[in-house]
Amino acid sequence: MTLPQLTVKMTVKNEIRDLSSIAGGEDPPVMTTDYQQLFAGKLEQLKREGNYRVFTELERPRGRFPCTLWHSPDGLREVVIWCSNDYLCMGHSEVVRDAMHTAIDQGATGAGGTRNIGGTNHWHVRLERTLAELHHKEVALTFTSGYIANHTSLSVLGSILPNCVILSDQGNHNSMIEGIRRSGAHKLIFKHNDLVDLEAKLASLPRAQAKIIAFESVYSMNGNISPVSEIVALAKRYGALTYLDEVHAVGMYGSQGGGIAQAQGVEDQVDVIQGTLGKAFGLVGGYIAGTAQLVDCVRSFGHGFIFSTSLPPVIAAGAQASIAHLMQSDAERVLQQQHAIALKQALHRARIPILPSPSHIVPVVIGDAIKTKQLTDCLLTGYGIYVQPINFPTVPHGTERLRLTPGPGHTPALIQQFVMALDAAWTKFDLPRVG
Ligand code: PLP
Repeated sequence: MTLPQLTVKMTVKNEIRDLSSIAGGEDPPVMTTDYQQLFAGKLEQLKREGNYRVFTELERPRGRFPCTLWHSPDGLREVVIWCSNDYLCMGHSEVVRDAMHTAIDQGATGAGGTRNIGGTNHWHVRLERTLAELHHKEVALTFTSGYIANHTSLSVLGSILPNCVILSDQGNHNSMIEGIRRSGAHKLIFKHNDLVDLEAKLASLPRAQAKIIAFESVYSMNGNISPVSEIVALAKRYGALTYLDEVHAVGMYGSQGGGIAQAQGVEDQVDVIQGTLGKAFGLVGGYIAGTAQLVDCVRSFGHGFIFSTSLPPVIAAGAQASIAHLMQSDAERVLQQQHAIALKQALHRARIPILPSPSHIVPVVIGDAIKTKQLTDCLLTGYGIYVQPINFPTVPHGTERLRLTPGPGHTPALIQQFVMALDAAWTKFDLPRVG
């Protein structure tokens, strides 16, 4: 009797990876219940490829960002962090801290339930009101993370609209990809930021068919900014809804920090704006903003919303204060942008290749997982500079990189110190220069 072939397929961000190739080749097929050995084999392969992730244990002492304390194997060391998503240093804001102290002094620690069952706190309602004001939308809805906001919202929208097609940018974040997959809607992937390809795909669909264009405004790994106003114009022409992930743009762009749609003056044209409270706003959580009916559908049908305990009120209070502050203060954005420009110029002078990012994100592609890790280890141990190597599956194999995020606290002196260190490490590892 022939045994059936057992081949386990694992999907990792658009790639099909075959477990048999990890645990000893295609032939014969792997048949084992030695689970620990299978786990060890998977981890061993990651280590061989240089893709095994080592976390850096930090403390973020109050008010001293970007100075950070690293629990190194040799004890506590002061390092400067260059890869934080606390883009505007709001994680150290006294305004936010005060709001959180008030909320925790006056209220309970947790929300006490799901939103439907006892877990809708006054602070959630206030936060959602502020978010709606920020984006000039009828209403907003919060989730426990930006990931869950995307996953839940896209899975609801793609499933409740009959025979819906979702046109998804090739560079979209995993949370959108998984939400679209969960929705069961048809999916068409258009080339990254490519209006011609998007229009061709829209034109191939019947006018009356429900469509959603799902895309981001700032792509976090290459720093690209999407042509939001042009995409919105195409959507109107072909009768599509637009779903815009502004996770890396909220707080950062636009007159009130409403994101790229606000900066490009098309906020009112975008149907759904999705964002996070975990990056420029300095806390944790996610949200969408849109029309009352659309958002009510996500609220009513979204499993990732319905079946999960809501954010602690203290987080909602802090986020509300952070957003309200950034709606009326430009100082953090202006300083951050100045430092991003200064860093790009200094890297350019050192002939270190960076991707041509128009945004606040400064990507330095190394293109090799092992070299990237060696470089970042050298920066950390030799120079007290912490930049996490970015590897697969966050970016494709062969495009491993540093992702630098200068903030308001990265002064000209820190920029100079950083570029000198990177320059020396670049020479040490014989990495190619531009020009
Ligand atoms: N969308 C994009 C484009 C992201 O880069 C991320 C996370 O980095 C998310 C969504 C998820 O947001 P959160 O970190 O709040 O879960």
